[in-house]
Amino acid sequence: MKQNISTLCIHGGYKATKGEPQQLPIIQSTTFKYDTSDQMARLFDLKDEGYFYTRLANPTNDAVAKKICALEGGVGAMLTSSGQAANFYAVFNICQAGDHFITSNNIYGGTYNLFGVTMKKLGIECTFIDPDWDDERIEACFQPNTKCFFGETISNPGGNVFDIERFANMAHRHGVPLIVDNTFATPVNCRPFEWGCDIVTHSTTKYMDGHATQVGGCIVDSGNFNWETCTHEGSSSSCAAHFSAGKFPGLTTPDDSYHGLTYTKAFGKMAYTTKLVAQLMRDLGSIPAPQNSFLLNLGLETLALRMRQHCDNAQKVAEWLEKCPKVAWVNYCGLPSNKYYALAQKYLPNGSCGVIAFGLKGSRDEAIKFMDSLSFISIVTHVADVRTCVLHPASHTHRQLSDEQLRAAGIAPDLIRLSVGIEDASDIIADLQQAMDKM
Ligand code: PLP
Repeated sequence: MKQNISTLCIHGGYKATKGEPQQLPIIQSTTFKYDTSDQMARLFDLKDEGYFYTRLANPTNDAVAKKICALEGGVGAMLTSSGQAANFYAVFNICQAGDHFITSNNIYGGTYNLFGVTMKKLGIECTFIDPDWDDERIEACFQPNTKCFFGETISNPGGNVFDIERFANMAHRHGVPLIVDNTFATPVNCRPFEWGCDIVTHSTTKYMDGHATQVGGCIVDSGNFNWETCTHEGSSSSCAAHFSAGKFPGLTTPDDSYHGLTYTKAFGKMAYTTKLVAQLMRDLGSIPAPQNSFLLNLGLETLALRMRQHCDNAQKVAEWLEKCPKVAWVNYCGLPSNKYYALAQKYLPNGSCGVIAFGLKGSRDEAIKFMDSLSFISIVTHVADVRTCVLHPASHTHRQLSDEQLRAAGIAPDLIRLSVGIEDASDIIADLQQAMDKM
């Protein structure tokens, strides 16, 4: 029976049968026992399904991956030990030294660094594009060795909304998949596969957990990208033959480390996810602890409920900030005055997220005074938590940069990132008001 998001948040991934625990069990075991050597050999050959070593698969981790897969509407998913690992694996699964990919330039700073610095050291180049450029300018960035396009549904910290359908069509015209980091929207507010995206990633550390208890990530495959023909199922775009031939050899040619198995031939729509697990996780090993997956699952159970409250509160706070005489600007896509309002209405009609970016009139010192005067709103580097929290990149994460360097990195020196929690909205506004009164 097809279930809706709120039901899947609770029942997806795990179903207890007679006499089994109602709550997802934590299987805190590195290994799993078999009776014959042949049974074990068949698992290693990927001929039988089953657990043998937690780095490759664990029942607690798998149940949570299945839940997120169901929430996003994908065919396969894998958990990772962080959102950073998820974004790295998602791209590295289809890119190797000598390859290239394209990414939006207004993505989370950690991802920006991973793509622009660390992956470059592995021989994988990327081009940062401004999503506001016209199609012609962005299309000119595709090269014969381009393997994917990447963006964030709602960017961190700017709050820009990514035009998923536009970039999915563009990626497909060039025979490559679109990967979208859906961390801030969550599948409660946006399901990128419905707009043509091929692969979704998450930092589950954020809203999915929601209580700041674990660091984790997830990759979900829609199963809609055909790695042999380089086309998206249902897409009218066809790409030039010289682009498509052998574009994804890691998936479409024999893997020597798996007895010459070819993922697309052996696993069809599960090729991308099987390679993620059987090759990348086997070799790089960033698995979450089953205990962390249990905590993540507790968060997921209330995700739909919490997202509604985060969005309601953020809307009220953003509207209040917009009228505040000490506030210079507010960026929240739920505000009709916002540049991304129309895109938000299209992709996020039921709400976006709880994160607001705004600037105060005055100097860096005034912004610091404001933050230090907050009462229950806490200064932390984290976002997307039940507790309202605040961060000033110019004084914290990017404190080594001058105002000029900050602007070059796309961060206004006065930008304050406010992550609105699920407390009573009037208490949040009262705390902001009393801190502004002290400026
Ligand atoms: N993607 C986005 C949009 C993020 O905001 C973050 C972290 O803030 C990450 C990825 C990285 O996730 P993690 O901190 O879980 O490694």
